[in-house]
Amino acid sequence: MTDEELQAWVERVSLRDFGRPFLHRARFNSRLRSTGGRYFMHSHDIEISSRQLEAFGPEEVEKIIKHELCHYHLHLQRKGFRHRDRDFKELLRKVGGTRHCAPLPGVRRRSEPYRYKLVCVDCRTAYLRKRKTNPRRYLCGVCRGRLKLVPLETPARPDWPGRSTGPH
Ligand SMILES: [Zn+2]
Ligand SMILES: [Zn+2]
Repeated sequence: MTDEELQAWVERVSLRDFGRPFLHRARFNSRLRSTGGRYFMHSHDIEISSRQLEAFGPEEVEKIIKHELCHYHLHLQRKGFRHRDRDFKELLRKVGGTRHCAPLPGVRRRSEPYRYKLVCVDCRTAYLRKRKTNPRRYLCGVCRGRLKLVPLETPARPDWPGRSTGPH
């Protein structure tokens, strides 16, 4: 399927399910792996993972198109267009969009980097943490000593050499 065919598809879904025209650009992105699509807040463009189409077919991709169009139309109407917003959740349910873009087989979501470590003031054992943690709530697992929280200068990736997924 070409970008032009995708464009026409998105415009069709927009009119049929949202009752509003899609006036920006839609294109395929073959590098999108951990997410099915992306909405760009600045250009209002939409990208759809071509791998998603290969892996799951047009029915699933149409649900991704609806998901991205929910971001698009709510954003342009200055309504709550983020995943956590009630406007978004309600519109998504109404049009039957996918809630989470299914990751492709064999692709893991990028995991959060570690930003802090809890360091034992006695034995210096370090415990990596992704979020800010109250050190008073824990004791060192090695010596039962007190801990202090230290921010990492360079956040450390837990496992995967993650690639940037951007907004979706
Ligand atoms: Zn210790
Ligand atoms: Zn989204």
